[in-house]
Amino acid sequence: MAKTFKNFIAGQWVAPQAGQYTINRNPADTSDVIGRFPDSRVPDVAQAIRSAREGFALWSRTPAPLRGDVLRRVGDLMTARKEEIANAMTREMGKVLAETRGDVQEGIDTAYYAATEGRRLFGKTVPSELRRKWAMSMRRPIGIAGLITPFNFPMAIPTWKAFPALLCGNAVIFKPSHDVPHTGTLLVEILLEAGLPPNVIQLVHGGHIVGNALVTSEAVPVISFTGSTETGSRIGEVCGRMHKRLSLEMGGKNAMIVMDDADLDLAVDGLLWGAFGTTGQRCTATSRLIIHRKVHDRFMAKLVAATEQLVLGDGRAPRTQVGPMIHEAARENVERYVEIGLAQGAELVTGGHRPKGARFAKGWFYQPTIFTNVKPGSRLALEEIFGPVLSVIQVSSYDQAAKVNNEVAYGLSSALYTQDVNLAFRAMEDLQNGITYINAPTIGAEAHLPFGGVKQTGNGHREGGWEVYDFYSETKVCYVDFSGSLQRAQIDTYDA
Ligand code: NAD
Repeated sequence: MAKTFKNFIAGQWVAPQAGQYTINRNPADTSDVIGRFPDSRVPDVAQAIRSAREGFALWSRTPAPLRGDVLRRVGDLMTARKEEIANAMTREMGKVLAETRGDVQEGIDTAYYAATEGRRLFGKTVPSELRRKWAMSMRRPIGIAGLITPFNFPMAIPTWKAFPALLCGNAVIFKPSHDVPHTGTLLVEILLEAGLPPNVIQLVHGGHIVGNALVTSEAVPVISFTGSTETGSRIGEVCGRMHKRLSLEMGGKNAMIVMDDADLDLAVDGLLWGAFGTTGQRCTATSRLIIHRKVHDRFMAKLVAATEQLVLGDGRAPRTQVGPMIHEAARENVERYVEIGLAQGAELVTGGHRPKGARFAKGWFYQPTIFTNVKPGSRLALEEIFGPVLSVIQVSSYDQAAKVNNEVAYGLSSALYTQDVNLAFRAMEDLQNGITYINAPTIGAEAHLPFGGVKQTGNGHREGGWEVYDFYSETKVCYVDFSGSLQRAQIDTYDA
């Protein structure tokens, strides 16, 4: 009998009120059931909101350095449990252990960064234009933050949102992806063990019903969402009408540009990691290779040979390099794109099918796949696939490469491989992405730098680093006049 998991609402682990559950399975072996997780409904969210209000009243008055101390203990506990969490994450999400360890580490880094931010959270003191008057700004908590997260970084992305939100003094209602509820549960366990007051964190498992209840509630003034552009657009419409503070991190169609002077072996290594790491299910995955004609054939020979050597399997097996996809629907989506690519005249050079053999029979595996001769403007060149499919586009110059890079609707990350330092700096200005890597693949963000994309990938906010603290706090400005007389700004300053 599978274990039954609960929500964490109003300081207790509780069953969903309507008694409905979903089954969470290991994507590498669907006969391995991780557990039954709540498929919550609106009344569960309403209860969480009532409790979070009380949590906010308490937590927002707790000094920021003490809030930071809780997050330091969170970092310590995550460090102690890193291996256990990584194993649980691979079991429910599929990516290989090295990657899930990295996912936990990103959470640890975010916890320690947040802990020290408790002793900064700077405001400014600036000169007033009037005598004997002070002018200053400070950061204030906002209220309840509703956090809605995707499946592909089950620990890192929730921590990017929850830790700064908590450090700034907000209460959090966390709705993890229904595909990775176990990792979300482990995170909440750790927050509680570290001493976070129980009403400050609520965990409500479920799907779009829970997400929508948070988005539409007037009691939740802050929404942070990471997921598909389609879902993000719907959330954006509602939050716009309700004047909510909203951070959207959405889809990508990231490209690696390889110039004719590039170190080709280095670029092959980067591409394998960028395109097929996390089975291509990263927002920053390298989904397009834009390559200079002069090196195309040489590069492709190396790349295809290396791709065919990649070891597929259960992410917990030491030799595995590529795990399964998250679920059957994701795999079928990849299959649809393979058909579209063939129909639009692209040339399939490797993959394009499910792997054969008994050890793949019970998992949602798909063979790493490469299309060459992909035409700019075709669907493979423009649309996010979110699977292990690489589309190769040939160009004759850097200018053409930059144009192809920029002609997609998304703008998360890009990479340029070249030995030409001038070109590298030009690319940093030209490429329309939130992140550009030089001689490194499109993935590899570090927790202490801002993370996010331009165009249809985001709505202007950033996660990570120093910028995210602005998102989760309100700027309050105070003036103190100690002159003992009425002083009128602008008027007495200049017209006296
Ligand atoms: P998804 O949009 O299907 O789901 C994301 C979350 O939104 C889940 O928790 C889901 O339950 C919830 N949700 C679904 N419908 C909702 C609704 N109507 N209202 C409120 N919440 C709702 O995305 P996914 O399949 O989990 O993740 C893959 C997508 O996430 C890809 O498009 C990928 O590019 C994107 N992603 C972006 C970033 C980034 O930082 N830019 C990072 C990781 C993933």
